[in-house]
Amino acid sequence: MKPPDFKYVRVDSLEEAKQALSVATDDDAKVLAGGQSLVPLMNFRLARPRMLVDINHIPDQAYHRVENDHVELGPLCRHRDVELDQAIMARCAAIREAVPHIGHVAVRQRGTVVGSFAHGDPLAEWSTLGVLLNAVVRVEREGGSREVPASTWFKGFFDTDLDRDEVATSVGFDLPEGSPLTGSAFSEVSRRHGDFCLASAAAVVQLDEAGDISAVRLVVSGLKTVPWSLGSRASEYRGQAPTEALWTRLAGELPGEKEITSDLHASGATRRAMAHALARRVLFMAAMRAEKRRKDPDNGR
Ligand SMILES: Cc1cc2nc3c(=O)[nH]c(=O)nc-3n(C[C@H](O)[C@H](O)[C@H](O)COP(=O)(O)OP(=O)(O)OC[C@H]3O[C@@H](n4cnc5c(N)ncnc54)[C@H](O)[C@@H]3O)c2cc1C
Repeated sequence: MKPPDFKYVRVDSLEEAKQALSVATDDDAKVLAGGQSLVPLMNFRLARPRMLVDINHIPDQAYHRVENDHVELGPLCRHRDVELDQAIMARCAAIREAVPHIGHVAVRQRGTVVGSFAHGDPLAEWSTLGVLLNAVVRVEREGGSREVPASTWFKGFFDTDLDRDEVATSVGFDLPEGSPLTGSAFSEVSRRHGDFCLASAAAVVQLDEAGDISAVRLVVSGLKTVPWSLGSRASEYRGQAPTEALWTRLAGELPGEKEITSDLHASGATRRAMAHALARRVLFMAAMRAEKRRKDPDNGR
């Protein structure tokens, strides 16, 4: 299928993009980034924007800057740019393990990280990583800007905190393995490599000098319309020894099967069983990486 008619606007600066969105007369103006989600939706006529604002020709917006173990990604930074950035990969095992699951190389070569946040697919690898890594999305409109934490960015199924006249201009987050005694991990289940996952899990574990837990974060996707997070309940695990029994108990915090999305791909019970196994795996892997770095601070980078 071919998409319905639309007006195409090529912009050469973020200012022009904001201006184009501000004068759009209806809700149907959309930013075109990598086009890897928007164009298929238009071809299937599931999306019918009347105007596309193409930001691909704006110079200097493909940046991926690592500074003091914090990274900022511009709106034209492609998944593949991250995958090939050794400074990012060495500082976050969870990103290293997640990004190769995003479609295939051709998709990663075009699709943007910021576009993934804007799209708000609850199964996207960046949705899980964003909540795990406390990402902050910066959005701008004519005459204003704001920063939104990933914890409130994802509102529901393909629904984010992005307003129709806003352009997402960057996403930033800390890289966990930049901190000492810390490890992270990501794992997912999908039917075929490159498919969207049925469920995914990601964790960050930080140990204290004695080898007990000083902080733990766990995020699981595929259960609800937004990524599920352990959130403040994590503080109850502080000071405890990182044993397999503890990871099983922690994974048991997942929502019950009746609260979990059930569809033609998998029942709530199946999704919970997958998520439970994935959660245990990433907690174990993250803790193992943290422990290796505790014993040898130069390890794991
Ligand atoms: C075959 C195939 C397999 C895929 N598999 C996966 C997968 O396994 N996991 C996964 O996560 N993704 C997958 N994708 C999607 C891919 O990751 C996309 O790159 C991503 O979802 C959106 O990025 P994009 O730059 O292509 O955005 P686009 O398609 O250009 O835009 C998507 C939406 O975000 C909005 N948008 C984009 N950028 C901005 C911005 N800067 N400001 C405001 N709004 C913006 C657009 O208006 C649109 O509504 C797959 C795609 C294909 C074609």
